This record gives sequence, structure tokens and C-alpha cells, in this order.
Amino acid sequence: MKLDVNALRYLSKDDFRVLTAVEMGMRNHEIVPSELIDRIASLKHGGTYKVLKNLLKNKLLHHDSSKYDGFRLTYLGYDFLAIKTLVNRGVFAAVGRQIGVGKESDIFEVATEDGTVLAMKLHRLGRVSFRAVKSKRDYLRHRSSYNWLYLSRLAALKEFAFMKALDEHGFPVPHAVDCNRHCVIMSLIQGYPLVQVKQLQNPDTVFERILGLIVRLAEHGLIHCDFNEFNIMIDDEEKVTMIDFPQMVSVSHRNAEMYFDRDVECIFKFFRKRFNINADENEVEHDDSEVDSDEDCRPQFSDIKKASGFLDKELEASGFTRKDQNDIEKFVDGDVEEDLGSDSEETEDEQAIVDQKNDDSVKNFESLSLVREEEDDDLLERKLENGQHIMDH
Ligand code: ADP
Ligand code: MG
Repeated sequence: MKLDVNALRYLSKDDFRVLTAVEMGMRNHEIVPSELIDRIASLKHGGTYKVLKNLLKNKLLHHDSSKYDGFRLTYLGYDFLAIKTLVNRGVFAAVGRQIGVGKESDIFEVATEDGTVLAMKLHRLGRVSFRAVKSKRDYLRHRSSYNWLYLSRLAALKEFAFMKALDEHGFPVPHAVDCNRHCVIMSLIQGYPLVQVKQLQNPDTVFERILGLIVRLAEHGLIHCDFNEFNIMIDDEEKVTMIDFPQMVSVSHRNAEMYFDRDVECIFKFFRKRFNINADENEVEHDDSEVDSDEDCRPQFSDIKKASGFLDKELEASGFTRKDQNDIEKFVDGDVEEDLGSDSEETEDEQAIVDQKNDDSVKNFESLSLVREEEDDDLLERKLENGQHIMDH
């Protein structure tokens, strides 16, 4: 999705007030009736209705009259709320080009006031796969009211918390800068996703390094669960950085071993195919059907001395609770169980990747400085700043 931040610059304080009122209404309404929006925003002289029209025109809201008349936030509306908060906090000042389109996210470059370029990941759960959302109906039925903005916010919070904790434990991950609503700001990784890398100077070393990461993660009590060539970045020195953490689980998860083996298998399969690497040096030329012939050389889940409690202690410090983890694990489980039936190579088609070359594109940044406001003294806005109120009960 294109992120046209131009409109953001022209939105007034009242526009944001009404947008925020819709967000607040979504705490317990999938569709928020205009009377409720009006009551929360409490603009003078029925101003809310005029503003609603403007927000609708800018595609920040969606008008829905299927069950009753009302509004809900679009992803763009949610993007703007997160971006405004982060710009007000001084986290960044301009938005640049899109650098990645994941299955359930959009990644953009953003720049701080002093010109440092960072990466902004906007989570978009449920965007692509209606199929997956359908499979989650069981889980969703148990929620009093469901909203994928809530899941996207949870995914962002989880990603931020994991990135921070992993960074602190010396794992090669982006540096987590800040997080708001469904948006994570992190350092920009130089290099390319492994899927785009056709040649390596030392494929064996890179292969060992990547496998070593899976093992070290497990030793810390964690499994990535989506450890593949799309989520590993390689720079010119062949340094490895792992990204994309919303689906990580604990080694005590009931399917832990299966997830672990699947991560390992992904790496074996990719390196065999792309770099002709087999861990077993005695093997000559593999044929793709002999998938299990290097089985013995693989790290075994049962051999790993696993730590426990990592999730609880470190992650809760970042505001990510055990309940959040359970909520999102249920959601991710649905995906994984479906994936098992399908060919993993499908990911290649589903995932469009924008050319990763980090050219000198700062000139293309759209400055957002006009949006920035001085310390907000508006109580409502301050209370809502963290967007914690969407379906968080
Ligand atoms: P998704 O969860 O949707 O798969 P990812 O976190 O894997 O999203 O990001 C999608 C793509 O965006 C990655 O494959 C990578 O090309 C790019 N990307 C993500 N994070 C960064 C980053 N910190 N620095 C540079 N590129 C990134
Ligand atoms: Mg990814």
C-alpha cells in the first residue's frame, strides 16, 4: 500500500481529534456510530460531522452501514495516528520510500531530524490472507469483539519487545528504537534479504552462522518460527542479521520441536538449493528427493540445553505480557497449522520484495515537520497517545 503522507500534513487538530475518537470507540465497537464519535470528540457546533466527511475523503476512515451506520479506522488512519505520535515524540521527522512488502507488513525508510535513516515497520495482520483469517474464526469467536488492528498492535508490541531483548543478549537483530500502535521503528539494516543473494564468498560459514543462531535462540528459550531466506539479511561483509519476530514462541510451546525442526529444514533446503551445501561432506551430489539424507548432521531439539523464563522476565519489562503472548500465539498457531499442508516455496510468490539497494535516497523523503506539535496539553490526546485502548481488555 502506498503511504501518502502528504494528507497527513494538512490534517488539522480537529481531524486528529475525531480520528482518535474513532480509535477510542473501536475499543468496544467494531463499527463506531457517529453519535458516539461526536460525544467522544466533543467538538463545538456539531463540527464532528464535517470532519468525518474529510477523513472519509482522505480514506482514513471507512463508512460501514452493513449492520448499523458508523465508521471504523482504515489501516491508513491507524498509520497516521501512529506516525503522528512518533513524530511528536521526536522519533523521526520524515518518511521515505518503501523498502519492503512483507506478507503482513509494509516497511518504509524514515529519517530523524539529524538525517539518520531508520526502518519503520507497519504491521498489517489479516491484510493478505483472508483464508488465514477465516481459519482463525474459532479463536476469534472467543473474543468478545475482534479487531485486526488489535492483533497488529499486539504483533508490533511483541516484535519490539523481542527485538530489544534479543539485542540485549547479543543477537544480531536490528536495534529497536520505539513502538507505537502497530508500528515499530528500528535501525535500518544494510544489505539484502538472503533470498536476493545469488553468491556468497563463504557460504559454509554463513550457513553455520545461521544454524548457530537457531541453536542459540533455543538455548535462550526461543524459536523464531519463520526462519527463512526472507527473514535473514546479509551485508557485504556477509554479516547475518535476523528480522521479523511476531511469530516467535517459547521452547515450552506444545509444538516447539516441530517449529524448531521446520526452521532448521528451511535453512538446509535453501542452502542446498542455492549454494549446493550439504552439512554431510561425504555426501556426493544430492538429488532433491533425498531430503532426509543429511538428517544426522542437523541440530536436534532434544540435544539443546534450553533456558526457561526468558520470555517472562525480559519481555514483560518491555510491556509485553504473558496474556499478550497467549493471544498472539493462538492467532499464529492457526497460520502454522495451515502452512504445514502447503508447499513452503509458495512464500516466494506471495512476498514481493522491493529492491533493497540502500541508495542515497534521502532526497526523496517527505518531511513531516509541519505535523509536529509542541508538548500536547490536550488531556484526551495525551491519554490516547499510546493507542493502548483498542480492544485491550
Ligand atoms: P514481514 O513480517 O511482513 O515478513 P519483515 O520484517 O520480514 O516483514 O520485513 C519485510 C522486508 O522488509 C524484509 O524482507 C526486508 O527486505 C525489509 N526489512 C525489514 N526490516 C528491515 C530493516 N530493519 N532494515 C532493512 N530492511 C528491512
Ligand atoms: Mg518477513
